[in-house]
Amino acid sequence: MGERVVILLGPPGAGKGTQATRLGSALSLPHVSTGDLFRENLKNNTALGLKARGFMDSGRLVPDELVLEMLFDRVSKPDCARGYLLDGFPRTIPQAEALEKRLAERGARVQVLNLVVPDTLLLERITGRRSCKSCGNIQHQKYSPPKTAGKCDKCGAELTQRSDDTAEVFGKRLSEYHALTRPLEAYYSARKLLQSVDGARAPESVFEDLLRTAGQAKEHV
Ligand SMILES: [Zn+2]
Repeated sequence: MGERVVILLGPPGAGKGTQATRLGSALSLPHVSTGDLFRENLKNNTALGLKARGFMDSGRLVPDELVLEMLFDRVSKPDCARGYLLDGFPRTIPQAEALEKRLAERGARVQVLNLVVPDTLLLERITGRRSCKSCGNIQHQKYSPPKTAGKCDKCGAELTQRSDDTAEVFGKRLSEYHALTRPLEAYYSARKLLQSVDGARAPESVFEDLLRTAGQAKEHV
């Protein structure tokens, strides 16, 4: 029987990275995130990393073929022989098609877990975040409001909003997700591989649900 591949889908701000780390260790599957792949390849100055840097330095998106090369290189390592959990990949339909081809050739068992969180909640979660430059504490205007307006509860220093967390920047990421990645829901749904989990809850409940759902493989490829 082929390797087990779990794909975790979900919009930015859904807490996907944290859930993927926990789920990977609970399922004993290496957590393969495209963010980490990029960082490692760049840090180690691999041939792939150098190619990717060229695109990033000029502000262009790293092309699918290069992302795929990095990914397939990573999942060919011995620790992925029994399977792995993908976080941040695939991001586009062409990536999904290339992955599907490879996984079919290897007889992999595939499962797609989809974290569902409404845009309004994502925007509220992200744009309400304030962080302390002094101690790194993160608070939220609504969920963990500072006792003194604008000041960190832990050290009293000023709380600021990260530029990534503004409605403008985050909204752009969200629209990009809708345009490029959201179509994957229909793609995997048509293949009867998609299992959705309500991500609009406390992280602990979401994790339990993900773990339970992962235990109920819907279909094998
Ligand atoms: Zn602080």
